[in-house]
Amino acid sequence: MGSFVDDILADVKAANPAEPEFHQAVHEVLESLLPVLEQRPEYRRYKIVERMVEPERVIMFRVPWVDDSGEVQVNRGFRIEMNSAIGPYKGGLRFHASVNLGILKFLAFEQVFKNALTTLPMGGGKGGSDFDPKGKSDTEVMCFCQSFMSELCRHIGPNTDVPAGDIGVGGREIGFLFGQYKRLRNEFTGVLTGKGLNWGGSLIRPEATGYGSVYFAAEMAATRGKTLEDKVCLVSGSGNVARFTAQKILQLGGKVVTLSDSNGSIYDETGIDGAKLEFVMELKNARRGRIKEYVEKYPEAVYSAENPDDDHNPLWDHPADCAFPSATQNEINGKDAANLLAGGVWLVCEGANMPTTLEGVDAFTNAGILFAPGKAANAGGVATSGLEMSQNSMRVSWSRSEVDGKLHGIMREIHRVCRSTSEQFGAPGNYVLGANVAGFIKVADAMIDQGVV
Ligand code: NAP
Repeated sequence: MGSFVDDILADVKAANPAEPEFHQAVHEVLESLLPVLEQRPEYRRYKIVERMVEPERVIMFRVPWVDDSGEVQVNRGFRIEMNSAIGPYKGGLRFHASVNLGILKFLAFEQVFKNALTTLPMGGGKGGSDFDPKGKSDTEVMCFCQSFMSELCRHIGPNTDVPAGDIGVGGREIGFLFGQYKRLRNEFTGVLTGKGLNWGGSLIRPEATGYGSVYFAAEMAATRGKTLEDKVCLVSGSGNVARFTAQKILQLGGKVVTLSDSNGSIYDETGIDGAKLEFVMELKNARRGRIKEYVEKYPEAVYSAENPDDDHNPLWDHPADCAFPSATQNEINGKDAANLLAGGVWLVCEGANMPTTLEGVDAFTNAGILFAPGKAANAGGVATSGLEMSQNSMRVSWSRSEVDGKLHGIMREIHRVCRSTSEQFGAPGNYVLGANVAGFIKVADAMIDQGVV
């Protein structure tokens, strides 16, 4: 059976050269699937794994736009429609200079399993562009979004493919994208999620990924008779996920001591309290500034600039109880994982997608700490997008407490399913195996029901 997995991985590498993040995501899932493939031979007979690693459709397109100085700019746009066995494609759009086909394939692949775990009927997709909104004026961002949507609108729709935000795509970008879709199609539908509250958005959607991640962490801690109260927490990133992760940790009585962006990180041993977090919310959301400005306002904190030659990330060097990587992929390598364990960390909860390398995941699993993979821990965002889709279809708006209650219930259920699946397949407490296998079975069974399509 091991050779079956090796063969598939070799085929994936040959068919998708120079896409290391996609290979990594497939590798991690395949390793977990061995027990279920042994137990259910029909999955091999119907070539379910071979079909799952092949996107149903890949769309790649030119995005030309004109900057404020009148110069023509060209970016590349993508949408990966990975799997629609259990519902319309659903997954975010990422605008970041690092975006390429392999990164979006890894994200789309992860999304298939994540969406299956949410208990909602959503297939998996992901998209984006190598356009970087940082440093661009609002007019430039609008021009880019309009050009991007002029092509994307041919491929999406409320029953086909429903994109949302991700890195670099927040409320501003979703607004510009939605406006252009509506203009071109002459339709006001729930084609995007993460919309503004007064034009079809859902309460709690901005908070959902971060809040959901902390709800999941609290469930894990409870299995060892612990809570997050008074626990020291390392959070990376300072974007949507990181900010609301920090907010929920504070609400549960924990202490947050770090945040970061792509230029560096801050460490505030005294704790980033509610007022300091408000400053970060305003800094990042409204002023679109850099996290370095935190130490100018709060000199008790220290700033470490990102050093590309460093073999580890200094953010993970600090002693703590819990770590919430919430910035981007592969931000915890083997050395970072060792530093976290040496610093006393007993819980790691991935708010970002695949923030831990395979070596790091092995270190956490071998150490027996509580480790939540992103596809389970950060599923609250897409789950609440699913709730936004339901509200749009029914033309109703649920209250904040209704949506938060549903989000909390979904995260509890994902935790329960991951845990019981890990027990059923002989690896109790292994949330990586639990999430991969539970998500896989749901999608695989639907694929068998629907024939070879
Ligand atoms: P965001 O608001 O754009 O924030 C991203 C944060 O990560 C920023 O602080 C950014 O710093 C930092 N970052 C981005 N790329 C980086 C890099 N290459 N190196 C170091 N830092 C980097 O995005 P987000 O929505 O919070 O997403 C964060 C993570 O959560 C991503 O992995 C995303 O896929 C995942 N996720 C998001 C959602 C959601 O609902 N938004 C749902 C599930 C999972 P700069 O400001 O300097 O770029």
